[in-house]
Amino acid sequence: MSSIAPSAAELDQIASLQKSDRMPVLFVGHGSPMNAIEDNEYRRSWQALGAQFGSTFPRPRLILCISAHWLSTGWWLTGMALPRTIHDFGGFPQELFEQQYPAPGDPAAAQAISLLVRQRQSAPLGLDMSEWGLDHGTWSVLKPMFPAADIPVIQLSMDYGRAPEEHYALARQLKALRERGVLIVGSGNIVHNLRAARWSGAGNDVYDWALEFDAVTGEHIVQGRLDALQDFRKLGSVAQQAHPTHEHYLPLLYAAGAVDASEPSRFFNTNFQLASISMRSVIWG
Ligand code: ZN
Repeated sequence: MSSIAPSAAELDQIASLQKSDRMPVLFVGHGSPMNAIEDNEYRRSWQALGAQFGSTFPRPRLILCISAHWLSTGWWLTGMALPRTIHDFGGFPQELFEQQYPAPGDPAAAQAISLLVRQRQSAPLGLDMSEWGLDHGTWSVLKPMFPAADIPVIQLSMDYGRAPEEHYALARQLKALRERGVLIVGSGNIVHNLRAARWSGAGNDVYDWALEFDAVTGEHIVQGRLDALQDFRKLGSVAQQAHPTHEHYLPLLYAAGAVDASEPSRFFNTNFQLASISMRSVIWG
């Protein structure tokens, strides 16, 4: 493997990485895995948004998804030709376990991206050929959005031991892919506290700390203060309650890192599930 990043001419040789109109960037709040199959407002909005690609937005040649559910040491890309559908949850109906999302991978593009986007000490991103696949953070959202599963999908893991600033810095490098037909999708939740979830009856009784964290984060996005998103822990106990662990927040940094502060943003699905999960989603560009 070459240690030199591929040139523009070399990227032009890869079918899915040729020059394109600039792609938008998505952050999607995925919430419960059941959103993949329930006919609810979230799934309907994903279906409607997906239908706009190819008209309002260019059709992606490749989707690069950063899911809250793939945490690793070092950063990795799925490099296999046929990534498996991973059912990484428990206690749900059989119908959910039977879901498949047979979108192909794109080994040539994964190899090129691994050289183009560097992690610590300029090391290429790792290429995972067997461990991972498409977890539910990816397929529960992409299946309603792109049901034909005919756009190749690559997942990028998150090195969970690294500081938020390092995730954001890596995401800045993803921006160039938008000019090459790649739709970057961060899949997590702006507020995510399952321990505090109100499972029965009080779904609309959203916690104050959840509303506050969601509002502050949303205002940063509206005002284009994207760099400030790295400092979410400044909110202290509110941030601690919104994210007892912060793996569902980090995908937001990957999406925000790939956009310019001056780009217009639009929210959708600005509701809460189970009183403690913000479904707020954003499209930029
Ligand atoms: Zn999740």
